[in-house]
Amino acid sequence: MQKILVANRGEIAVRIIRACMQEGIETVAVYSTADKDALHVQLADDAVCIGGPNSTDSYLNMKNILTAAVSTGADAIHPGFGFLSENAKFARLCEEFGIVFIGPNADVIDKMGNKSKAREMMVKAKVPVVPGSDGAVESVYAGIIVAKEVGYPVLIKASAGGGGRGMRVAESEDEFKKAFEMAQLEAKNAFGDDTMYIERFVKDPKHIEFQILADKYGNVIHLGERDCSVQRRNQKVVEEAPCGIISKDLRDKMGEAAVNAAKFVGYENAGTIEFLLSGEEFFFIEMNTRIQVEHPVTEMITGIDIVKEQIKIASGKKLSISQEEVKFNGHSIECRINAENPKLNFRPNAGEIKLLHIPGGFGLRFDSAIYQGYKIPPFYDSMIGKLIVHAETREAAIKKMRVAIEEIIIEGVEHNLAFCYAIINSDEFAKGVFNTGFIPKHIDRLLETKI
Ligand code: ADP
Ligand code: ADP
Ligand code: MG
Repeated sequence: MQKILVANRGEIAVRIIRACMQEGIETVAVYSTADKDALHVQLADDAVCIGGPNSTDSYLNMKNILTAAVSTGADAIHPGFGFLSENAKFARLCEEFGIVFIGPNADVIDKMGNKSKAREMMVKAKVPVVPGSDGAVESVYAGIIVAKEVGYPVLIKASAGGGGRGMRVAESEDEFKKAFEMAQLEAKNAFGDDTMYIERFVKDPKHIEFQILADKYGNVIHLGERDCSVQRRNQKVVEEAPCGIISKDLRDKMGEAAVNAAKFVGYENAGTIEFLLSGEEFFFIEMNTRIQVEHPVTEMITGIDIVKEQIKIASGKKLSISQEEVKFNGHSIECRINAENPKLNFRPNAGEIKLLHIPGGFGLRFDSAIYQGYKIPPFYDSMIGKLIVHAETREAAIKKMRVAIEEIIIEGVEHNLAFCYAIINSDEFAKGVFNTGFIPKHIDRLLETKI
C-alpha cells in the first residue's frame, strides 16, 4: 500500500495520517470548506476539498470522496470512526472502484452494523445477548408484547443507532408507546432509519468491550478488554484498560466469546465487541466494525499500534502474533476532551483556542487535532482530543492523569476537563466499582469540582 486517503477529520484523521507517515505511506486528506485550516489538512501530503461544511455535503459525500481517491491515485481509504466508517454501501463502492476499504468487507458491515441483525447473528453464534426481541419489532404493539415477555424496565433501541442516540427506557407499559415513538423519531432524524428493537434494561451494568484483530485467513485474536462504564447519556467519557475489577477467568471467557463472535461472521480487520456485565453475567450489545475512539488505552497496555495493524491486514498480511503472544503491561486511562460547557447542560462550544499547553513525560499521550490559534468549527462532533496515560499500576495511572489535568491549559473554549478531573478523583473511580449509572447518580457533585 503506497497511498491512503483518510476519509475523516479531527483527531482520528491526524492519528491515522501519523501512522501512515511512520510507515512511509503517502497520505491524502479530504476536507470541507469549514476545515481548510485543520491540522489533518496540514499534515497530509495531499489534500482535496470535498464540499461544504455540512457533513452530508462533505464527509458523507461518497461521490466526492471517491473522486478524490481516484484522482490522487490512492490505493486505499481509511474511514476512521463515525461518518462513512460503518456504511456498507460506501465499502461496496470502494471495492467497485478498485480501492481497498480499510475495514471489514461490505457484507460483514451489513450483518453487524445493523444492531438488531447483529443480535440475531449472535444468537446463532451462541454468544449471550440481552433478553429481548428476536431482531426488529414491526410496530409499537408488537413491541408491547415483547416488553411484557421480557419484563420491565425495557430499553427501546434503534437498529441503526450509534453515539448513544436513538434509545429510550420504558419503566412500564404506560410509558412504552411514548418512549417508543420518541426513540423512533430521534432515530429517523439522526440515522434516516426508524427500525427499532427491544432489550431488557440491565440495571447498573459495567460496559466492557473487547478489541479484536482478524486477518483475511481466519486468524482472530483479542487484545483484552476496556472498561467504558463512565458514560453520560450512553456516551463514553473516561475509559480504561484493563478493567480494574475483572478476574482472569471472566476475561478469558468474555475474550473467547468475542473471538467466536468475530469468527462466526467471517470478520476481518480491527473491531470491537461490546458487552454489558452484570455480576458475573455478560451480554453482547453490539459490534463496532471500525476503529474506536478509545483504542489508545489498548495500544498502551499491549504495545500494539492498532491503526498500523488495520493497514497491514487490509494489505493482505497475516496477523504477526498469536493469542498467547499478546502480553498486557500496566494500566491505561483515557479522558475524552470535549469542547462543551458542563455547567450549561454540556452545550457544545465552538471558538478559537487562544492558549494551549500540553503536558509531557513518561507514559503520557495526547491525541488531538487542535493547536493554538485553531478555530473549532461548529459543524461537527465536540470531541477535540484525548488525554491518555499509562503507568505500571491502576493507582499510578490515576495519579498520572490527575497531574496531567492539573498541568494542561486549554483556553478560549469551554471544555470538560474539570468534569473528568472530578470523575478520576472520586472514591468510586478509585475503587473501580463504578457502573454506567455513575455519572447520572453523582452529576451534581461532579459538576462542582474545580481543578
Ligand atoms: P466509540 O464506540 O468508538 O466510543 P462513539 O459511539 O462515541 O464511538 O462514536 C464515535 C464517533 O462516531 C462519535 O463522533 C459519534 O458521534 C460517531 N458515531 C457513532 N455511531 C454513529 C452513527 N451510527 N452515525 C453517525 N455517527 C456515529
Ligand atoms: P451505541 O451504538 O449508541 O454505542 P450501545 O448499544 O452500544 O449503543 O449502547 C450504548 C450504551 O447504552 C451502553 O454502553 C450502555 O451504557 C447503555 N445500554 C445499551 N443497552 C443497554 C441495556 N440493554 N441495558 C442497560 N443499558 C444499556
Ligand atoms: Mg456502543
